[in-house]
Amino acid sequence: PVQIDIENLSLSFGNTEVLKGVNLAIRPGEFFAFLGPSGSGKSTLLRAIAGFGPTPKGQIKLDGQDIVGSVPWQRNVGMVFQSYALWPHMTVAKNVAFGLEERKVPASEIGPKVRAALELVGMGDYAERFPSQLSGGQQQRVALARTIVVEPRVLLLDEPLSNLDANLRVQMRQDLLKLQRRLGITTIFVTHDQEEANTICDRIAVMADGVVQQIGRPDEVYDN
Ligand code: ADP
Ligand code: ADP
Repeated sequence: PVQIDIENLSLSFGNTEVLKGVNLAIRPGEFFAFLGPSGSGKSTLLRAIAGFGPTPKGQIKLDGQDIVGSVPWQRNVGMVFQSYALWPHMTVAKNVAFGLEERKVPASEIGPKVRAALELVGMGDYAERFPSQLSGGQQQRVALARTIVVEPRVLLLDEPLSNLDANLRVQMRQDLLKLQRRLGITTIFVTHDQEEANTICDRIAVMADGVVQQIGRPDEVYDN
């Protein structure tokens, strides 16, 4: 797994600076949370790691190599969005296969990889369904499968559970944690829900107004 070092990272939209010198070291294989209120810069920071949005100042290093300025597809960083963003006209299997086809993975390898990814998220029986035939939780699992099937170096989750109803959200926490441990992939989870971060994550960076205010294990981080 990959170590992530973020050094002196600043980012502006026009004249408005929304990240104001972020410093963070995320350990290989860690399940890490960005926690904070709406507007504190969590999503902007996550998107900067994925390579979306304006180019920041400062450095984002994966195993020591700075990726600022490189384009998203060169980074091999996987991101799951709050809104799932599945293609409605494609089956589950096609949705998951798409990234492999784009990367010119040999056709003979695509089927087995898609099946393995769907099994991992507990959706092995749904390959031929369409997204509209699935519940929100099932769609979120497919979105996860689509991201992990290409074996990204880093997994970024932008409020992945916030569109689910309360019971399912609690249940999915454990599934997400199990999946992360099984893959052993360095993972960043964005949430505004402290309980959610406490339940799932190894360490938490509490963000406020574009900076990291506190960083530590759940038992070390307090609401203020
Ligand atoms: P969070 O994820 O913590 O809710 P965001 O990273 O989405 O916070 O937003 C941080 C700040 O940046 C907010 O003030 C937001 O309005 C602003 N912002 C986010 N995206 C854009 C954008 N594309 N253009 C201008 N301002 C933006
Ligand atoms: P979320 O909280 O789900 O990340 P937001 O409502 O913060 O969603 O942002 C949705 C989209 O709008 C993002 O692409 C973000 O960059 C953009 N955005 C957020 N705030 C602003 C803003 N003040 N001006 C322009 N775009 C913004």
